[in-house]
Amino acid sequence: MKIILATQNEHKVCEIQAALPEGVLLTSLKTIGWSRPLEETGNTFQENALQKAMAVYIETGISVLADDSGLVVNALKGAPGVFSARYAGEPSDDARNRQKLLDEMRGVTDRKAHFVTVLAFVAEGKAHFFTGEVHGELENQERGQNGFGYDALFVPSNGTGLTFAEMSSDEKNAVSHRTQALNLFLGFLASEHPQKN
Ligand code: IMP
Repeated sequence: MKIILATQNEHKVCEIQAALPEGVLLTSLKTIGWSRPLEETGNTFQENALQKAMAVYIETGISVLADDSGLVVNALKGAPGVFSARYAGEPSDDARNRQKLLDEMRGVTDRKAHFVTVLAFVAEGKAHFFTGEVHGELENQERGQNGFGYDALFVPSNGTGLTFAEMSSDEKNAVSHRTQALNLFLGFLASEHPQKN
């Protein structure tokens, strides 16, 4: 079975391919010669993931997996949400996004936030969604050098008190929103295409 991953990020393709069962081949947009940017104009993670998956499915007819992720902050009424990548404006800049978040959260006592990933899988004209969430709290200064995005500000409540940026990638992956969504998708694939022994 072939699945196109609707991303220009080759690293994401390798990471997800490694988790897939034998016989499921993940292809990147680059490999199929797709170079146009995919629009993300929805108001929710689900709308954006579906918009990207559908755009590719309609043109290729091949099964497509697309993701959309971001950080949701309770005290900011859900911001930065679907605007997480461009919170401090375009072009997207992680350091400026973190600084804007720190500024918006200065003096705010409710520090609760969560990361969300929605995966949209479109196959045979039908869409399926898989959502992962990791809940935690925001620090009031950056801690750690690893990861990307808002990692240096986020302490998951199911972790050891470290920010995501102080964890190894294995430690982060054990609890992350992305892993949870991917595991739900893998469960779905296994139920749809059971491996024969
Ligand atoms: P994407 O949809 O995976 O490209 O994520 C959109 C934006 O959400 C990223 O540019 C980051 O700012 C933020 N984000 C999503 N996942 C994470 C994460 O695991 N750590 C830190 N920031 C994240």
